[in-house]
Amino acid sequence: MICEIICVGTELLTGKTINTNASYIAKKMMMLGINMYHQTVVGDNTERLTEAVKRAVDRSDLVITCGGLGSTYDDMTKETVCKTLGKDFVLNKDVEKELHEYFKRQNRVMPESNIKQTYMPSDATPIPNENGTACGIIIPLEDNKQLIMVPGPPKEMKPMIDGTVVPMLMKKSGFVILGRSLNTLGLGESALAEKIRDLSISSQNPTVATYVKDMQVDIRITAKAENEEKATALLDEYEEKVRKLVPQEYIFGVDYDNIEERLVEVLKEKGLKIASAESCTGGFISKRITDISGASSVFECGVCSYGCNIKEKLLGVDTISEYGAVSKETAAEMAQGVLALSGADIAVSTTGNAGPDVMEGKAVGLVYIGVATKNKTETFEYSLALGRGNQRNNVRTNASTLALYNAYKAAVNL
Ligand code: ATP
Ligand code: MG
Repeated sequence: MICEIICVGTELLTGKTINTNASYIAKKMMMLGINMYHQTVVGDNTERLTEAVKRAVDRSDLVITCGGLGSTYDDMTKETVCKTLGKDFVLNKDVEKELHEYFKRQNRVMPESNIKQTYMPSDATPIPNENGTACGIIIPLEDNKQLIMVPGPPKEMKPMIDGTVVPMLMKKSGFVILGRSLNTLGLGESALAEKIRDLSISSQNPTVATYVKDMQVDIRITAKAENEEKATALLDEYEEKVRKLVPQEYIFGVDYDNIEERLVEVLKEKGLKIASAESCTGGFISKRITDISGASSVFECGVCSYGCNIKEKLLGVDTISEYGAVSKETAAEMAQGVLALSGADIAVSTTGNAGPDVMEGKAVGLVYIGVATKNKTETFEYSLALGRGNQRNNVRTNASTLALYNAYKAAVNL
């Protein structure tokens, strides 16, 4: 089967919005073993969208359009596609009812303009939208082809792809594809890839590959089989093979999105509380922990102690004049200070130079992380600079990842 994606939106052409939807959908198709030969981006322009749809339907078996299903005048994907395909365009009573209920649940009356979101070809199947008003649409075409329309906002598109489109295509293909990610931190991607290189090269099914994001490297195992049981057995077998090649200390979990998710889980399991004192990360740690639902049961407080004054007054740091604010001594005292202040079981701190200039003789990217518990304080030194461009964001994100990772390791050992 050949698939093609058409993303609609002038903001994608101008670069204002990064086309993450195409990448998300493409990965899913690859996982399903569906070939992708073309992807197109068109602006909110009827003529050019018509042209793109005609070409796509002609050369591909599955066309997925993304965006332009909203209720405003510039959202014209649905009308244009239906006209191009020569399909009728009628009100779907079920969708209309669902839309009225959607607004009723929020104590709102449905605006007149939303009625256009209930129109589709009479032979189309709507895909429910959990997070918005625009339903997705599956349109059957000649020669067993299909055109699927999903909305532009990623939080609306993703549940439709995962919940409806992927299962439907899987059923059609007659086999099951399952994936599992071993999440690692602390070992760089190259070092990790080296360890699993032979396995990665020799494995066709399952496939074994590494994916990196903000220092976290996932080892993704993807298995294809005729049923779920066989696919799971393949995953189990290869997970064991991978675990023999990668030191256990670097693997922090299986199928977690990120380290904060795992940290919050471990803290919950153990009934522990955490607090943070941040300098160079400016609140990233607090933000990332509180991104996880249920964080309130484990997160005591986050102090954004950017200035020396507050490090000293609030956290009791008293070695800045001797060692400087960017030092392992300050990191240790910040962690101890917020541990005492909050009464938490674990405290984590960061102090470093995120750049762009050398500060107090400390290089850009030099970061100290402190982790304190009632009986022990540890500090870690990292050089996080890439040596090019403005790296503030990179240094700060990576510092927060390493802080969360070290806090996780301390939580595991408590
Ligand atoms: P809405 O009802 O919100 O108008 P829509 O289906 O009409 O939804 P668009 O108007 O095309 O979708 O896009 C809405 C928003 O979704 C955009 O501002 C953008 O933030 C995001 N978006 C659209 N297309 C993409 C894409 N390909 N990748 C990432 N984000 C996208
Ligand atoms: Mg729109």
